[in-house]
Amino acid sequence: MAMEEERVKRSPNKYSTSVLVLHDALILTMDPEKRVFRNGAVAIRGDTILAVGQSQEIVSQFSYLSPQLINLHGHFLLPGFINTHVHTSQQLARGIADDVDLLTWLHDRIWPYESNMTEEDSYISTLLCGIELIHSGVTCFAEAGGQHVPGMARAVELLGIRACLAQSVMDAGEGLPPLWANRTAEEYIQSQKELHKQHNDTADGRIKIWFGLRQIMNSTDGLLTQTRDAAKELKTGIHMHVAEIPYENQLVVERQGVEHGTVTYLEKIELLQNNLLAAHTVWVNDHEIGLLSKSGVKVSHCPAAAMHMLGFAPVREMLDAGVCVSLGTDGAPSNNRMSIVDEMYLASLINKGREVFRKGTTDPTVLPAETILEMATLNGAKSVLWDKEIGSLEVGKKADLIVVNPSSWSMMPVHDSISGLVYSMRTENITSVMCNGHWIMLDKKIMTLNEEEVIFMAKNASRGLLERAGIRIPSRMNFL
Ligand SMILES: [Zn+2]
Repeated sequence: MAMEEERVKRSPNKYSTSVLVLHDALILTMDPEKRVFRNGAVAIRGDTILAVGQSQEIVSQFSYLSPQLINLHGHFLLPGFINTHVHTSQQLARGIADDVDLLTWLHDRIWPYESNMTEEDSYISTLLCGIELIHSGVTCFAEAGGQHVPGMARAVELLGIRACLAQSVMDAGEGLPPLWANRTAEEYIQSQKELHKQHNDTADGRIKIWFGLRQIMNSTDGLLTQTRDAAKELKTGIHMHVAEIPYENQLVVERQGVEHGTVTYLEKIELLQNNLLAAHTVWVNDHEIGLLSKSGVKVSHCPAAAMHMLGFAPVREMLDAGVCVSLGTDGAPSNNRMSIVDEMYLASLINKGREVFRKGTTDPTVLPAETILEMATLNGAKSVLWDKEIGSLEVGKKADLIVVNPSSWSMMPVHDSISGLVYSMRTENITSVMCNGHWIMLDKKIMTLNEEEVIFMAKNASRGLLERAGIRIPSRMNFL
């Protein structure tokens, strides 16, 4: 059956007993044996994968159930990508802080923008962000901590994507907008517990609620330790920006009297645990890499944002030490492109280039394509504490998958399909996306909402928000 015909049919749902078989595809399973089927099939019932294997075998195995058959004509079938560091709230802020220094970025642009957001802004921002994520093959993302979790949750429910949502939490720091400056650690913990109660495991189990910590310079000790304990109590994760800039480490050394920086201090207060997702983690020394590995902390590497304003993260060293490193886009004002496909390409290139400076010699074997694919799928699933259900195409896991059409000027010819997915694939090669057994994009059309409507709403909302926040972007060059 053609994908076009499939579009008009209802997607399978949780309670459906009918079986769907996607066949005649090159299937990258990312299972423990790293099996790739040249001509494979996946059988799905409801939200779950029933079988993965050779096309002919799967089709005949399920023929007695008269399954709905979709011939993928040699397209590639992969697990959905997992973007482990996203600021959904910042999508309406794309382009408000390009080519400015970090303090201007934060104090004059991002904080005024975020502190003036309404819940409706957050809803629209998340919708727009979700559209871009889905187009790049993302079926699950981790929110870095933004405004109005209920608005985000409403958008995630509609988008049909999977997400770990977190509130932006800051109870200290210079220059905070007045609206944020007066909230205590206790209030933040209480409100996040409330959000967990209201939204965790909603949207057919697609939404998880995490604890947020914006970064150490905006956190009192009380907030750090109370967050540690509350996340443990609710058996959920903590998302935090860690060791982003040298100044952050300097400040921690001065204030806390530790030897190196944030990671060393977080170990001292027992915040380094396997439920911590540490974003960026650029300025860490070898000892701290050892601490991250020993404690099972997950690291989200965001290559574009790192190049934008942070520096080179020691990704090869972290992977060698056994740290689980995944990939993230960060937010639209620190990356502009929210495509995990671009991050895959960049991560491999940047880390190859970094080796030249580190060792004084070139090493094109650093971060090969299969490692990058693992970072974008399996490591992503581990990072969001969801690897029992997502991250690979295996029997019993959730049907979160993407279809890639390699027949384009950008990918052809494909002599090496694994490297082709990292070095040649563009966002545009991703044609269809399934999350939790539902097609959320088919033939590049988002199935869960009207894209044009969201773009219209986003343009209006962002204009109003910038006006309310008093943000003016200086014009460049000679505008007439
Ligand atoms: Zn971030």
